[in-house]
Amino acid sequence: MHLSNATWPELRDAETNLAVVPVGSTEQHGPHAPLGTDAVNAEAVAEAGVERADRDVVVAPTVSVGVSEEHRHFAGTLWVSPDTFRAYVRELVESLATHGFDRIVLVNGHGGNVDALREVSAAVSRSGEAFVVPFTWFDAVGDHRTDMGHAGPLETALLRAERPELVREGKIDEARDGASDRWGDWVGRVNLAYDSAEFTENGVVGDPDEGDAELGEELLDGAAESLSALLAAVADRERTERR
Ligand SMILES: [Zn+2]
Repeated sequence: MHLSNATWPELRDAETNLAVVPVGSTEQHGPHAPLGTDAVNAEAVAEAGVERADRDVVVAPTVSVGVSEEHRHFAGTLWVSPDTFRAYVRELVESLATHGFDRIVLVNGHGGNVDALREVSAAVSRSGEAFVVPFTWFDAVGDHRTDMGHAGPLETALLRAERPELVREGKIDEARDGASDRWGDWVGRVNLAYDSAEFTENGVVGDPDEGDAELGEELLDGAAESLSALLAAVADRERTERR
């Protein structure tokens, strides 16, 4: 059930306490993929995971601007500070919990959101208001994880599978030519770069052409399977915060 498409009596009568919140970003994804890529992909994974779940799950509206200041040099990138983001997500999940949806998975599509989502999930869960767990789809794709990059093979593959009309296929060569082969500027295990413009000319890391729709289906399948298992575990877990 999509919260935005439901009426309030339908929500009141919903017989579940389980919800997902897709969380994306609005940030450059190279010359070939849209600024909304992370939100689009998070929604696709949330949708596919919820479809496989063995119980009803409410799909909350997407959080579509996140912690993306690292892409600020590229036009159209929007961001909020981690403090604002954590506060916003916290109040959003607390409002869901007010209506009885107090077991929540945040389905994330952006690496820059990961730390803040883990922190806010822990804080809310410890408070006892809700049990919240973050899930980042590209951490659930097995060995493919190492090819993540940025607007690279994995994200482009998922778009090609789910929303092919959003990929500028005529810009793929340009995307590859201006791409970096690594995220960051490393000395040993220390990354000297804070912003993507320091190591990628056009915003891309990795080769987007290596991610076709078939790979996208495979990624979606793997991520959806992991998410549905996580949803069952979150629904059944005994809450411990009051001990
Ligand atoms: Zn992305």
